[in-house]
Amino acid sequence: RRRRRRRRRRRRGNSRRAALGMFAASAPMAHATPMAHSTHVTARGARATTHAVAGGARPRRIAPSRSSSSSSTARALRARETRPPSAMTVRGAVGAWRRPRATIAARGVRAARRGTVRRAEEDRLGRAIGWSFLKTHAKACAFVSGRESRRMREVSARASGGDAPAAGTSRWSRVLQSLATTVDPTVAEALLDEELPPHEEIRRGTLENGLKYVILPNKVPEGRFEAHLEMHVGSVDERETEQGLAHLVEHVTFLGSRKRDQWLGSGTRGNAYTDFHHTVFHIHAPTTNKDGHYMPPNVLDILYDVAFNPALLDTRVAKEKKAVLAEAQMMNTIEYRVDCQLLEHLHWDNLLGTRFPIGKLDQVEAWPAQAVRDFHARWYFPANATLYVVGDFGADVDEVEKMIETSFENAAPAEGAEEAESPLSRHAVRPPVKHAYGSPAHEAGEIQRINDEAKAQGMDDPFMPFVAPEGKVSMFQHEHLSNASFNIFSKLPIKPLKRMGDLHRTVLQRIVLLVLQSRIQSRYTETNADYKRVELDHSDSAREGCCVSTVTVTCEPREWEFALQVAVEEARRLQEFGLTSSELDRFKAAMLRDSEQLAQQAGCVPSLENLDFVMEHDACGHTVMDQVAGHEALVRMSECITLDACNGACDELLGFIGEYGVSDDKRRETSGRTTAIVACVPATMPTVEGETVPFDITPARIEAVLAADYGEITPPEDIFVPEVLISDEDIVALVEETQPTFTEATMHEPTGVYQRTLSNGIRVNYKVLDAEPGSAFLRLVIPGGRSRESSEVGPGGIGAAAVGLRTIQEAGDVGEWARKKVEL
Ligand SMILES: [Zn+2]
Repeated sequence: RRRRRRRRRRRRGNSRRAALGMFAASAPMAHATPMAHSTHVTARGARATTHAVAGGARPRRIAPSRSSSSSSTARALRARETRPPSAMTVRGAVGAWRRPRATIAARGVRAARRGTVRRAEEDRLGRAIGWSFLKTHAKACAFVSGRESRRMREVSARASGGDAPAAGTSRWSRVLQSLATTVDPTVAEALLDEELPPHEEIRRGTLENGLKYVILPNKVPEGRFEAHLEMHVGSVDERETEQGLAHLVEHVTFLGSRKRDQWLGSGTRGNAYTDFHHTVFHIHAPTTNKDGHYMPPNVLDILYDVAFNPALLDTRVAKEKKAVLAEAQMMNTIEYRVDCQLLEHLHWDNLLGTRFPIGKLDQVEAWPAQAVRDFHARWYFPANATLYVVGDFGADVDEVEKMIETSFENAAPAEGAEEAESPLSRHAVRPPVKHAYGSPAHEAGEIQRINDEAKAQGMDDPFMPFVAPEGKVSMFQHEHLSNASFNIFSKLPIKPLKRMGDLHRTVLQRIVLLVLQSRIQSRYTETNADYKRVELDHSDSAREGCCVSTVTVTCEPREWEFALQVAVEEARRLQEFGLTSSELDRFKAAMLRDSEQLAQQAGCVPSLENLDFVMEHDACGHTVMDQVAGHEALVRMSECITLDACNGACDELLGFIGEYGVSDDKRRETSGRTTAIVACVPATMPTVEGETVPFDITPARIEAVLAADYGEITPPEDIFVPEVLISDEDIVALVEETQPTFTEATMHEPTGVYQRTLSNGIRVNYKVLDAEPGSAFLRLVIPGGRSRESSEVGPGGIGAAAVGLRTIQEAGDVGEWARKKVEL
């Protein structure tokens, strides 16, 4: 059903900003596991991409949205461990957490991986699955075992105090207060203050000319490596009359390398893209080509040539201008326009809202070739670049370091560096951007004070942050939209993730968002079948230089008031009463489980993902950890993930939705505020009778719905969620009673799929794979469907299959457990 909904959503395609700020951030996660489980469809459309594969295909835009991982949880988790707020898209996690319940199967996979008598394990796995389906009424989750969760608890219980000295005593005071009842404050403080362990295998360095580099050995995919050169210049650095120039320069330089021909036929792929804050040239190459030629030195030479020694010919500029104009034509879709709307209103306070990488086309047409050369001279110098080399490069890190030096040492230090006010006054890896923040009162006061002080001293810092007034609704109404989507934003400063306490904060935030999302969605499900969906996100954006909290409600137009009301009510309920203890248990256990799974997959992450991950993290100032260290950190702090601590995070995280329109004096001290609301709505809507009428909605009405008083808030009902749907004992009894046997068993050689038939006729097919250790996927297929319907109208007739399926889904009880419990 989830998949069906996703498809539906994609088709309707409204809210694209689910994971705000996080294209780049979520993308690495996206590839973590191969299953398509698209949680975000974040188009992040404003990013312009040159797609010029070796061999000179015409540049064209690739949709920047990449499908996300199956294990959104896994992704979410890795996100939390090493790159917390980012990619905090919670939705997948809600759905995915129960996946590890297929524990027997998972154990089989793990055992197979360890190389223990594989065949025997496979046999046992097959039987385990078979037994579960023996009785056709047996629950689909029959082989869930409590053992796994017990084991997780044991791991969690290992959490220890940490031995680092408590340095900053006040840093964690707020959270320490909330922990005081359960954890020894000295122990907790020492733990929270501990620095996160940086990834041990990452080598960082700087050449004499200022070029920074990052090297990370990574064996997946084998025999291939990635080399990306990030120039710290993007559309935000353009002057008023240069809008689109960063992108055009990217095109001309990329295609202007004299050495690009070298990779023809070698299995090497190159590409480039321009965003607000950077321009990246990337090459993916085999370590050794078909002729046995060792590739890394060549690839580095090419990157050097592209960035620091391109031929910026007049003819080339003229040609690429045409390519850029064509690209602009192609990307002008409704999704792109919605994205632009969101960015424009979210960043009303700075250039991000208007300076889209594609630029202004009339300007692009008018520039002389010299403009390209000037811009290049101004920004393309080694101290403004970071080179990333990640992969299986068949040499040790020292050798790679030497290769980098050989290829790049001749890049001349900037001629125009001073003129460009760079890099001294710039953030190390991204241009400074001025933001208006929706910080809670206690932090907003501080921002205000610094501003006043600067003003009093006559200091004028154009990048001084300031405090935003409560956001108003901006509305984008368009006939090509079919669903209404409401994006409620709160911008906050990025808090670098450097200590255990930072990680702790992001874990609490994630749990709170998971809970709220699950509560809202569950109320949506309880009502009618009209499409309603909520997505919550709280993530750092390297590209936008801020952290953004987002609530996105997407629904059919006639449901909009109700959908918004539910979101507001549930946010208020959570602020008022906090989480229930069973919610905490569930989501915490889920996070631990996913984190463990992710740690198991540590060696299987492709180079490209790791590279993107490091790039994004560096731009946010976060510590990059490896997945295993991330998991250990989480386990160690699990004792500090308490109900009080989670509840302490509620106001800060949810105030911007729960207290919209509340005056400053009545607002809670720690509640953040809304900085922008963007409603993207259709021009017309169908009535229940099927007529098409104008969609009557105004910003004022939306504001009223968000700020309305919905009466007294009642505490949430604490739903008991069974850990297992059928106990181990019941399974044993079931097996005893039915004495299952397989009537036949074969292995299909070409595919490696085992095919068995149970004594009751059910066919069981399975295959053991090495990918995604620690997890397994099951699908139960029941033949039938529309083909079994008769052509009559009535029971068993036309539509019966759909009605029957829907009934089973919507009823959804399993044994003694109601649907709601099962779904949770
Ligand atoms: Zn382009």
